[in-house]
Amino acid sequence: IVLGEAFTKSASEFKARAPGKSALVLGGTGESGSEVVKHLMASGAFDKVTVFARRPVEYTGPNAETLVYKPINLEDTEQMERDFAGHTHAFNCLGTTRAKSGKEGFYKVDHDYILNATKACKAAEIEHYSICSSAGADKNSMFLYTKTKGEVNSEIEKMGFPRVSIFLPGMLMCDRKEARPLEKIASYVMPALNFVVPNRLCVPTSTVGWAMVNNAFKKVDTPILENISNLDMVEAFKKGQQ
Ligand code: NDP
Repeated sequence: IVLGEAFTKSASEFKARAPGKSALVLGGTGESGSEVVKHLMASGAFDKVTVFARRPVEYTGPNAETLVYKPINLEDTEQMERDFAGHTHAFNCLGTTRAKSGKEGFYKVDHDYILNATKACKAAEIEHYSICSSAGADKNSMFLYTKTKGEVNSEIEKMGFPRVSIFLPGMLMCDRKEARPLEKIASYVMPALNFVVPNRLCVPTSTVGWAMVNNAFKKVDTPILENISNLDMVEAFKKGQQ
């Protein structure tokens, strides 16, 4: 499958079918979020792409004139609602880690802030909401990470967006700017294990970004939960090509 060509085709079909769309990105300065931004911009399918973040996003590729940066306060749901109004699509790649922010800090970002922003998206009448969650997300899990992800997904499902897509990637593979020693070690081990459990354990952030954006171009509605792996993302993408 030639991803680039198929992507360009689906993006231009989307633009012809649904002109005047604009996207907002949360977490666009992070590893997955910056890939989402890259693919949104490369597609040229959106009249405007707004990155809401606490620091400016770095982008110098095609269609840079349609990229807008706006600072965000994830505690101020009313302000977010006002700022998000007028956008049609939302891509949420927010998150932190327990190692970086502690147990409470993790829950604050990955639960409270994500839900604050998602509620603001709903109030701002976002048509299609997409989020990068995680493989193993389960509100009944005994582990803080997967439990939190599961709780959030279950709340999002209940919010009643016209269309919602929840992505469940395995371990994210990328040349991470931030030092995460355990992830670094895992990044050597996981691809090897993929030979045993093909494509189930890890996925490049570039694939996640591509899949989230390309999914938005699909005509067909998608199941609420999708894409636990690189392979599934490619399969989901192929199914959308009709
Ligand atoms: P990153 O850690 O690379 O980026 C997180 C983003 O969230 C950044 O843009 C960051 O902003 C933003 N953010 C965090 N805290 C705040 C805050 N308090 N206020 C404003 N912005 C904030 O994320 P990844 O791309 O690694 O992960 C994306 C999602 O995927 C996360 O929800 C993660 O849990 C999940 N996931 C991760 C996996 C992994 O292997 N790491 C595996 C599967 C899922 P800033 O740049 O300013 O810090």
